Amino acid sequence: AWRESEIKRTKTVCTYCGVGCAFEMWTRDRTILKVQPVEEAPVNGISTCVKGKFGWDFVNAEDRLTTPLIRENGEFRPASWEEAYALIARRFLEIKEAHGPDALSFVASSKCTNEESYLVQKLARAVIGTNNVDNCSRYCQSPATQGLWRTVGYGGDEGSIEDLEGAELLLIVGSNTAESHPVIATRLKQAQKHRGQRHIVADLRRHEMVERADEHIHPRPGTDLVWISAMTKYILDQGLEDRAFLDEKVNGLDEYLDSLAPFTLEYAEAETGIAAARLADLARQIADAGSVCAIWAMGVTQHVNGSDVSTALANLMLVTGNSGRPNTGCYPMRGHNNVQGTSDFGAMPGRFPGYEFVADDQVRARYEAGWGVTLPKEKGYNNHTMVQAMHDRKIRAMYVLAEEMALVDANARHVQEGFDQLDFMVVQEIFFTRTCEQADVVLPGAPSVEKEGTYVNTERRFQRLYEVMPPLTGCKADWRILTELAQALGADWDYQNPSEIMDEAASLAPMFAGVSYDRLEGFDSLQWPVRADGADTPHLYLDGYPFEDGKARLYPLDFHAPSEPVNEEYDLHVNNGRLLETFHEGNLTHRSRGLRSQVPGNFVEVSPQLAEARGIKTGSLVKLISRHGEISVHVLVTDRVAGNEVYVPENATDNEHAINMLASNHADKDSHTPAFKEISARLEVVQVE
Ligand code: SF4
Repeated sequence: AWRESEIKRTKTVCTYCGVGCAFEMWTRDRTILKVQPVEEAPVNGISTCVKGKFGWDFVNAEDRLTTPLIRENGEFRPASWEEAYALIARRFLEIKEAHGPDALSFVASSKCTNEESYLVQKLARAVIGTNNVDNCSRYCQSPATQGLWRTVGYGGDEGSIEDLEGAELLLIVGSNTAESHPVIATRLKQAQKHRGQRHIVADLRRHEMVERADEHIHPRPGTDLVWISAMTKYILDQGLEDRAFLDEKVNGLDEYLDSLAPFTLEYAEAETGIAAARLADLARQIADAGSVCAIWAMGVTQHVNGSDVSTALANLMLVTGNSGRPNTGCYPMRGHNNVQGTSDFGAMPGRFPGYEFVADDQVRARYEAGWGVTLPKEKGYNNHTMVQAMHDRKIRAMYVLAEEMALVDANARHVQEGFDQLDFMVVQEIFFTRTCEQADVVLPGAPSVEKEGTYVNTERRFQRLYEVMPPLTGCKADWRILTELAQALGADWDYQNPSEIMDEAASLAPMFAGVSYDRLEGFDSLQWPVRADGADTPHLYLDGYPFEDGKARLYPLDFHAPSEPVNEEYDLHVNNGRLLETFHEGNLTHRSRGLRSQVPGNFVEVSPQLAEARGIKTGSLVKLISRHGEISVHVLVTDRVAGNEVYVPENATDNEHAINMLASNHADKDSHTPAFKEISARLEVVQVE
């Protein structure tokens, strides 16, 4: 047994999902003894889920990268930091000289801190001179952000998790909250059980939130816009809207009403498979409830009309007056621990930190003065358009920070072939991932517990993480790597501590004017926007909307049918998403023994009807073959899925099993988020036993 005095207790924030659980980590040297949640944690109190509690073995995994690697004659060899920096600087400057700054491209990481995201976009913009910078919100919630910008103004959840708990009714669409945001789900389940909160859940798959729902609907894949708009039209036709709220606080009703004309309940029934009477009943429940919040996630956004469906949900909340007051509003659930913050801090092709436009001359002038450089004006490539730009040789060099881009973007083989076209590629990672295989230089970074910084969770809440242990020998904190690389490229960066980076960001981005490490001491937190005097904003629209006249806007919409629907040849709809015990592709969770033991490999959920029709059973090995690729997975027969709809988790770190080998290049028309949820495939039996 260890003496109490040998145990170090450090506050940190979970590295997995966007809920933002904070806790103390108990360590002795590099040994993680336990994760201890504490009352003061603003989001989770004394709760965590299984990942936050037991998902940390990866920190001390034997296969951590511990030295820079340089590819030479097709093989990687260890190199010094100086040699690696010198090579990257030389190649980047050569490529910039030969092809211009827009031939280089940067991807920030939602696993990394706000300060690191800030540095990635500053490196791209101020040091290289390009706006080609993005992050993985492009793969998940960019459509939600788009929908909120159009209607209510800010690209973040309207209120706090407390508002979700306090609502009378929740409309939960395409969100497997219990597995993807477990601690929030626990709070919602308690609100349902103890305070009579009602849950209307729309989903293809019978996950736990569906099992516990008061009402469940199962629309045909890709038809959410139709049933949501039909309910909204019904509410307006029946005079059930919040007329006073619309008159006082919302613009655009007439044009919006015109756009709703096609969305009759009868049309919705034909298109979605949900009976008109059922939709009318649900619409009445929403209109009658005293307070409603809409929750959604990837089941909404990862479609060719993901932005429009997000907008439709915001429209519905506005029509029913469920905005601008406590316990109401729109709550897209952010996926990664810091996917909100990575966008907030400017790792986007058209926006500076705090979402100000790079094309705005006044804003650009502020950053030019702050950074002492001339900045590019044109919006850059995003994660999705970067891939085609690699194929077209418009992008020649790439810097990827802690993102398993080779497997987590759609049509993964196409992405990997894009990397093949590059002249030079750098990956900064903690493990040698599938993406590293295609790099020219790999730099060993540090996981969350080996550095300081801040994250922003799904409710726009800043929280500090402290260094639990120093970086593993040979590794460096990612902000330090970015700083030293910028110096190698000739910049005069001199950050000694991440707090200096936050101070700089706060001085330039009005949205974060009052954010400082002092105000985030310990378990203290702030929700943006944060005024210079430190006043933060738990609820966004209590005093109106951030448009010139202070009013929200109803946004007219059309229906766009899903890409690649099932047909005779590709007769299965392949849904996909997370599991409780694994996180995304699994580079972290697969290295945590307890979690791995729960989910040893990838699989496909198959309905009892489909299993019988194909003569397969739980444990059978099958191939799923789409127009774009194929994977091999074992079968799990379950009534969580129905008919010819199957479900494959994002749970594989190789080409043979990764779901995104099946996905297409189709993307949301407004945000370019890939249509990950619009996969059709055929099934071939490899082995029944
Ligand atoms: Fe971590 Fe999310 Fe689990 Fe909380 S709910 S412990 S943030 S994975």
